[in-house]
Amino acid sequence: MVVTDRRSAFKFGLVGAAALAAPQIMVRTVHAQAPVPEIGNPRFNRFNLGSFEVTAINDGARVMDDPHTIFGEDQEQAAVAELLEENFLPSDRLVNSFTPTLVNTGSELILFDTGLGAGAREGGLGQLRSRIEASGYSPDDVSIVVLTHFHGDHIGGLMEDGAPAFANARYVAGQAEYDFWTAEERMSGPTEGNAQAVQATVVPLAENMTFIGDGDEVVPGVSGMLAAGHTPGHMVFHLESEGRRLMLTADTANHYVASLQRPDWHVRFDMDKEAGAQSRRRVFDMIASERIPFIGYHMPFPAAGFIEKVDDGFRFVPVSYQLML
Ligand SMILES: [Zn+2]
Repeated sequence: MVVTDRRSAFKFGLVGAAALAAPQIMVRTVHAQAPVPEIGNPRFNRFNLGSFEVTAINDGARVMDDPHTIFGEDQEQAAVAELLEENFLPSDRLVNSFTPTLVNTGSELILFDTGLGAGAREGGLGQLRSRIEASGYSPDDVSIVVLTHFHGDHIGGLMEDGAPAFANARYVAGQAEYDFWTAEERMSGPTEGNAQAVQATVVPLAENMTFIGDGDEVVPGVSGMLAAGHTPGHMVFHLESEGRRLMLTADTANHYVASLQRPDWHVRFDMDKEAGAQSRRRVFDMIASERIPFIGYHMPFPAAGFIEKVDDGFRFVPVSYQLML
């Protein structure tokens, strides 16, 4: 994408008097659902966690309109706008990004969630496969795919050209999530579209899938916790190696300001709003009090941070060099 805004033009040393006098170079059009331009960023972030190696991979990001209709849908529009502006964010648009995580335990290469997949690639998303390659692995190296829940931005990358995208992998998913989405009654009404996606991408892999519940281990050092609400079987994962810990919170919080500073606000994407809020409080209370770093699937890339308890909610503290040491 051509860099046309003035700040980036400064960075690239392109600004002269002529450019400053030509306001049309600053004109850009951004529509809802548009891909976010990427400028010279490899879009993966790697660090060690004890003897584990963790790679957060950006599947893409998109601009969405009207944050108040998603985060704080039970609040006045002005209250949502005020919170965003207080936090130096625009009130009319947001950027939603998608971050699957690859964990090399030394004996397994575990991928947590699969991004939006091929269907989103034309829009600049669904970049997981190419970025796994860019990070030095092949999709064929993945030995276990863990699904935190079955929304399209997490299961969309399971299949590629009608075949399993991670050809040598087995799968791990929550029993409650699988049972919910594969129940006959989901195939009509508001769940129909997602249930069809589950039939197309998850169900064909089920015979190679291990189903887990709250507290179950995926492999030594990796265990799941039920954090229902966003979906009925939504799970988060706890990683521990040589005393270093990390949580993968998936979609427990989907906006780094609104969902954390106002954890009780209703979120359109949470299927059960109250249960979603309860899970947010429980998971982030634990992360805050135990000072555990976490990767949140929809946090701003590289999607890793800490949580500080403030007032009646939480504050996202992005990582700097903590995970490099
Ligand atoms: Zn999601």
